[in-house]
Amino acid sequence: MNADPVSSATVDQLNQRARAMYRDRSDEARSLAEAACKQAIQLDYHFGYVEGLLNHARALLLQGGYQEAIALMRHSLFLGEEYGYTLHVAECLQEIARAHYVLAEYDTALQYWSSCLDVSLNIEAYEAYVRAQIGIGQLYFAHDDFQSAYDHHLKARDGFQHLTDDTLKAAVLINLGVDLHRLGRFDDALEELNAAHELLRRTPHLEYEADTLSGIGAVYLSKHELEHAERYLEQALDINRAHGNLWGEAANLLLLGKLEFARKHEGRSASLLQLALTQAESIGAAHLVYQIEEQLSFTFEGLGDVQRSLHYYRRYHAGYVAILRQASPYKLHLMEMRLEVEKARLENANLRQQGATQRRELQRAEKLAIQDALTGVLNRRGMDTLGEQMFARAREDSQPITALMIDIDHFKRVNDRFGHGLGDTVLRQTAALLKSGCRQDDLVARYGGEEFLIMLPGRDWHGGVELAERLRKLVESWPWSRIHPDLVLTVSVGVADRIADMYLVELLERADRQLYRAKAGGRNQVMVDQPRH
Ligand code: GH3
Ligand code: MG
Ligand code: MG
Repeated sequence: MNADPVSSATVDQLNQRARAMYRDRSDEARSLAEAACKQAIQLDYHFGYVEGLLNHARALLLQGGYQEAIALMRHSLFLGEEYGYTLHVAECLQEIARAHYVLAEYDTALQYWSSCLDVSLNIEAYEAYVRAQIGIGQLYFAHDDFQSAYDHHLKARDGFQHLTDDTLKAAVLINLGVDLHRLGRFDDALEELNAAHELLRRTPHLEYEADTLSGIGAVYLSKHELEHAERYLEQALDINRAHGNLWGEAANLLLLGKLEFARKHEGRSASLLQLALTQAESIGAAHLVYQIEEQLSFTFEGLGDVQRSLHYYRRYHAGYVAILRQASPYKLHLMEMRLEVEKARLENANLRQQGATQRRELQRAEKLAIQDALTGVLNRRGMDTLGEQMFARAREDSQPITALMIDIDHFKRVNDRFGHGLGDTVLRQTAALLKSGCRQDDLVARYGGEEFLIMLPGRDWHGGVELAERLRKLVESWPWSRIHPDLVLTVSVGVADRIADMYLVELLERADRQLYRAKAGGRNQVMVDQPRH
């Protein structure tokens, strides 16, 4: 952006290469993305930095580092919103949703995907739109609502005319095939999957290739054509193993376990399934885990081992219920209605232009008034308004609420040694770190020069201290040397929660007193007002 175009082009190149290879060579992609971030920081090239973060996260995701990847993507999302990179924002929303989906956090996934639909409809980002429709369809699929899954995937196919990316088209076809399989339309399913196979012959893509083969294998398994099924599933497994896709490998092992079960080779079935289970558990893929447990209970029943069968059945049941509870079909349907209304509104071409522009401007004006220009988090005025509302709600509902007062240690020295410009970069990075460690409804504000205030609804001082400690460590361990080789940075935190009829000012005073104690006690620490309730 404001960087020297020659050097920023280098960053762009690093990002493009990382993005092109992350599926096949995730380690290399990670190093490239990290290099992109590092150079982007030195150049103050914001776009290169946010893209680098996202590419780093994409590679991490494939390696099973879900939590770390989500934190990186949220950070990238936050900065993308701040700088107004809407397309990037849509991509982040979509990738974050995908990560939550894999972790079976369906409710959260749904929220991100539906924001992604909103954003992508506004800016005509068809690719993100299609990906979000794929994802929402998969959510229905995970809830055994195959018809709705199919409907959403058909909507994804409606976006085809705008797509240039054949691999994405293949993804849509694969999903349609898998839905049709579960709707019992085996031959239609094979047709879609073979069409995907055809597309992928022209544009090779290992992950989707494996998905296609495993989809075809699964259909043959249902058709009881076991030889065919085995051939496709083994091929899929080979591909997934070769490029380290643990999720895909576990899913293939599950299908092969089912296949051996169908052949009445229960012993072989059990060992395949146990392998699948270990893998699925190692990456926290809850959705796969319960399906494997279900099949294990059948397999052990076949082996006459009633005790183990029951054991796995119980685990399957508990896992299944826990997942269903998160996103009830009712909630999904509410979301559906909201999306339909939104879509109808946006489909009118005139309204669409006008509405989007007006809404964007309104949002922008509202945001500017309460947003800190340097860091993008709330400014003091924003916190005074929103924090007061949040506090009043907590008081009315007798819910806990906690304040964290956070101050950068020896920040004056940072300015004195490295200059005010670098000081500003440090403030931005600190704000982004704090924000990325918080939940969606927490309020984060720059409350003074180098002082931040965070309000945590629904959390008491225990939860507050836990988060404060996490944020303190996050700041302490962030690689500040990326900004300057000699830079180190810590923060001190004061924590207090609401007691009885206390007012907001009192809460803040108490948090401030604790901050003072943390400073006096040597800095880089958390102090809490431990009330006797
Ligand atoms: P302590 O550990 O006690 O908090 O020490 P400190 O040096 O952080 O505290 P002090 O309050 O003495 O200094 C805060 C400094 O923050 C002084 C001011 O120059 C700097 N500052 C405030 N706002 C900004 C800003 O927007 N940008 C930059 N670069 N510096 C700022
Ligand atoms: Mg300070
Ligand atoms: Mg201060």
